[in-house]
Amino acid sequence: MSDWSQRNNEVLMNTYGKLPLVVDRGEGAYLFDEEGRQYLDFITGLAVNIVGHSHPKVVQTLREQGEKFLHISNLYVNKPAVELAERLLASTFPGKVFYTNSGAEATEAVIKLIHKWTKAQNTGQDGIVVLKKSFHGRTLGALKLTRQPGVYQDFPVSEFPVYDVEPHDLHALEDTLKQHKPAALLMEPVLGSGGVVPLESNYVEQAATLCQKYNVLFCMDEIQTGIGRTGKLFAYQHTSVTPDVVLFAKGIGGGLPLGGILVKTEHSELFKPGDHGTTFAPSPLSAALGHTVIQLLEDDGLLEQGRTASEKLHAGLRTLKTNHPDYITSIRGIGMMIGVVMNLDAGKVKQIQQTLLERGMLVDVTQQTIIRLLPPLIVSDEQIDFFLTLFQEVLEEVSV
Ligand SMILES: *Cc1c(COP(=O)(O)O)cnc(C)c1O
Repeated sequence: MSDWSQRNNEVLMNTYGKLPLVVDRGEGAYLFDEEGRQYLDFITGLAVNIVGHSHPKVVQTLREQGEKFLHISNLYVNKPAVELAERLLASTFPGKVFYTNSGAEATEAVIKLIHKWTKAQNTGQDGIVVLKKSFHGRTLGALKLTRQPGVYQDFPVSEFPVYDVEPHDLHALEDTLKQHKPAALLMEPVLGSGGVVPLESNYVEQAATLCQKYNVLFCMDEIQTGIGRTGKLFAYQHTSVTPDVVLFAKGIGGGLPLGGILVKTEHSELFKPGDHGTTFAPSPLSAALGHTVIQLLEDDGLLEQGRTASEKLHAGLRTLKTNHPDYITSIRGIGMMIGVVMNLDAGKVKQIQQTLLERGMLVDVTQQTIIRLLPPLIVSDEQIDFFLTLFQEVLEEVSV
């Protein structure tokens, strides 16, 4: 164990199983350790570094905004925050933005917004429907909406009703809407830590229709799927649906903390002064970086580039599965959010992850036996080939 790992364990509370890697710096699709060894990064800081590490344009914005101001609070007009909101709304739907510092805080904001909506409606509706295995954050309100063993424990939670239904079960959803009269439905278009389970467009569209029928707010948690991760700015854009509320975070700040909600015009006046707020959000620096990230995706062609690269990656993985049907059960996901469902026990999958790391390749594991790939949009053909060759090699070694 390196000196740094030891020092880490002595002073930091142990809430994350860490990989044995002490990061020195990042560049593009690579992280480098203290010895200068490079690691191809298909985790991207848990779906954050969508344009890779230290992108020159991101670093340039960091310098420019850093020299102006870092924090001013919400007492004054924050130009980067306005610019980013204009840009996000222009690429989605007419409405307004509320900013937060993180994903969980975006979920908290939605819980409060739904509460305000419930009061304004005065129809006796109350509560939120979520999907089983969903992840919406770890703060106490968000935790109540998160349906994963190991995350959702017996911490104290707020007093509002939550119902969960199986993904893709429209009957269960309609029964719940009819029977319990909830105020909102919240779903991830691709369940991320639930195992990279993409929802079928047809299901999302029918769920939205049911929401209209029962006068229920349709909210999309795009904290992981948003900001180009699935090949569109937001994953709901693969369907014909326009949600009432979209949650975003992770990729937006170019690596700095930033999150928030996009709220359709008809609900965008629900928050009044004093209803919600935070000292930091939006950090002018994070917001300026967010604007640069959207420009890179939409104006500089990174969305398109990422789509092409992800097709190559999916195709390579499908071939690998065809060659190794005994080890790989299925490949699922959209764009740069991929789950390789392994037909191996958790120990072997962990060993694959570990061996890949030793040979310069970073991948995530979720739900014990699913290898989760979250590459940056800038990944090159050569890097994809490096991964595919190495993955096959390690698979063949470890699986026997
Ligand atoms: C990561 C994540 C969250 C929580 O975001 P934090 O910034 O970690 O609080 C919520 N929902 C989804 C879908 C996520 O992937």
